[in-house]
Amino acid sequence: MSLNFDWPVIGHANILSFLKTSLKNKRIAHAYLFLGEKNLGKETVARLFFQSLVCVNREKTKDSAIPCQKCEFCLAYKKDGFPDLYTLKRLEEKNQISIEQVRLLLHFLSLRPHSSVYKLVLIKNAEDLSLEAANSLLKILEEPPPNTVFILISENERAVPSTVISRSQLIRFNRVSSAEISAYLKERGLAPNLVRRLTVLAQGRPGLALDLAADNVNYKNYQAKISASLPLFKANIAQKFEAIKKIRSELAVREEGRNQLSEEIGRYQGILRDIIMSHYSLENLIINNSVSGLLKELSSKKKIDNIKTDIKTSFSSQALLKKNINPSLILENFFIKIS
Ligand SMILES: [Zn+2]
Repeated sequence: MSLNFDWPVIGHANILSFLKTSLKNKRIAHAYLFLGEKNLGKETVARLFFQSLVCVNREKTKDSAIPCQKCEFCLAYKKDGFPDLYTLKRLEEKNQISIEQVRLLLHFLSLRPHSSVYKLVLIKNAEDLSLEAANSLLKILEEPPPNTVFILISENERAVPSTVISRSQLIRFNRVSSAEISAYLKERGLAPNLVRRLTVLAQGRPGLALDLAADNVNYKNYQAKISASLPLFKANIAQKFEAIKKIRSELAVREEGRNQLSEEIGRYQGILRDIIMSHYSLENLIINNSVSGLLKELSSKKKIDNIKTDIKTSFSSQALLKKNINPSLILENFFIKIS
């Protein structure tokens, strides 16, 4: 993080510039819908945007779009104690965001702002809104009370009611470049070897790189998953079906299962890539070098052309997951096809 506090976000330059410009020009939409897969930084950007909006010193800062981090609002905001921010999300034991939860939100919006002039609403996983809940939100999304700003976040555009989408300003988050992720990790002082490994593992998702960098436990869990994935490459068809059954039981039933499965396939992609590196004796380019022995063994047994086809299959499976095709079928197809 640089010393001069800017928005500490990796990548998404266009989105940041758009939001900063709207802050500067005071052209704030009633409702934004941030779309994009997990770990891209949607919530980070939403929170920074809100903080900038309420910071009393913002207009005195460099480009009038950077929170000062010192005023009472910034301080309250950083401690998660900002009273005019309401966060709506699915309760842990529930399947959806209920209409009762939306009623509480509407009550909050009917009160005057506590301290700032703004009332801010963050709705996480907007695809979790029940139809009733979404319907009861529509009116206020269309004509909110003055100085009310909504940011809805979703990983799954197809599951967000179209009535909500049509009332929001859409902002799409894409994966960021590896160069941006690795530059950031370098700046944080990580060893070059680790920077390289985390950058490849993150596959354009800054949140994942940061998780793995910040927390050795996460990194170890990741390595454990890699080790657990390896036996599949030596499995016969019966063992493959066992593995499919196991993964299927672990996948969330709901739509987010698609993202989970895409991550799972991404891990196999990483292993396949490493098998190729191992085949060409490019040991220093192997990412999962905690399992380099097994990779060597696999690379000597498998045909390199088959591995390349497997990599293509993994990418096409991830592409299919974005379409309206049953994830279980994609899972089966992927496991059966790989060599
Ligand atoms: Zn401030």
